[in-house]
Amino acid sequence: MLEIKDLHASVEDKEILKGLNLNVKAGEVHAIMGPNGAGKSTLASIVAGKEEYEVTEGNILLNGEDIEELAAEERAHKGVFLSFQYPVEIPGVTVTNFMKTAINETRKAQGLEEMPAKDMLKKIREKSELLDIDRKFLSRSLNQGFSGGEKKRNEIFQMAMMEPKLAILDETDSGLDIDALRIVANGVNKLKSKDNAVIVITHYQRLLDYIVPDYVHVLYDGKIVKSGTKELALELEEKGYDWIKEEINA
Ligand code: ADP
Ligand code: MG
Ligand code: MG
Repeated sequence: MLEIKDLHASVEDKEILKGLNLNVKAGEVHAIMGPNGAGKSTLASIVAGKEEYEVTEGNILLNGEDIEELAAEERAHKGVFLSFQYPVEIPGVTVTNFMKTAINETRKAQGLEEMPAKDMLKKIREKSELLDIDRKFLSRSLNQGFSGGEKKRNEIFQMAMMEPKLAILDETDSGLDIDALRIVANGVNKLKSKDNAVIVITHYQRLLDYIVPDYVHVLYDGKIVKSGTKELALELEEKGYDWIKEEINA
């Protein structure tokens, strides 16, 4: 699904990713952990195609295709979803209407007709029931006055509706409370399938109490320096990141 080879990337001439390798197969959930400033959000932004970052070396392959030259929107149409892509408040545009537009724009870009209204409603009903989202929420203005938990709910609902092949959730928000963590985790657990892959970025082990990742990677100083299973996350929780630094320097 996603293959990242020897990725080097800079922002404003400062090298941030320094030879990063990562392989994610369909059906897998990967967690990326690491200290502040390691390059986690940079990695997410680069895979999604944000333009302020410059890839100086290496490749990003999505299902075997080099996506480096594709704009963020084209990557989205190929099934790459990055959380917080639409954090804007849009007064007067409801959660539902926003989703309808997003879905139909994607379909248009893929050369498909608009989704018939009946199918759209069915899909909205199915996904909102799956995620325990109530009707009132769906008719609220997008992001307006949303609490942290509601923003997460909206994000996970977007992910459910878009049915991405590769979902990247960058949990940067230090203010995530337990409810918000549960919303994210519950969403990921319900939406994962053998055909999609999820990358969850976090520096909090506690998110991984609810999501069981197949692999855990440590991103440190622009590289993935260690990979393991969920036990690695527990070890990090207990011991912090310093021992990794020592291991690298040994
Ligand atoms: P993490 O998500 O692991 O905390 P980031 O990817 O956000 O780390 O940041 C890695 C480094 O890159 C930091 O030193 C940060 O200041 C720098 N950086 C990231 N994005 C930008 C940007 N748009 N402009 C300037 N510096 C940036
Ligand atoms: Mg970050
Ligand atoms: Mg390249």
